[in-house]
Amino acid sequence: MADTLFRAAEAEAEAALAERNRVHENVSVADLLGNAPEWQERAHCSQTDPEAFFPEKGGSTRMAKRICKRCEVKDECLEYALVHDERFGIWGGMSERERRKMKHGM
Ligand code: SF4
Repeated sequence: MADTLFRAAEAEAEAALAERNRVHENVSVADLLGNAPEWQERAHCSQTDPEAFFPEKGGSTRMAKRICKRCEVKDECLEYALVHDERFGIWGGMSERERRKMKHGM
């Protein structure tokens, strides 16, 4: 019984990891830059660690937000995320939760 539970937990952990990796592959800062050529060259995150912009659940967003704060295309980036309903990561200095609140006027 314990062995079965262990295998189920292991499979669940593997699935969660695969999902996280899929998100990173599909929604990356590179993707952000690739879809927004007019401001890509001025994005501060293009010269930083993309992982900081897609922290694991519960992970710190402080470093990414600090970089965004000084980014000259912050407004364009945030608008892009809102228009494209980006669900993951830090965009324009805001987390997904902050963007959701903003979108729903809370
Ligand atoms: S606001 Fe942040 S996420 Fe957006 S382009 Fe600038 S540094 Fe990158």
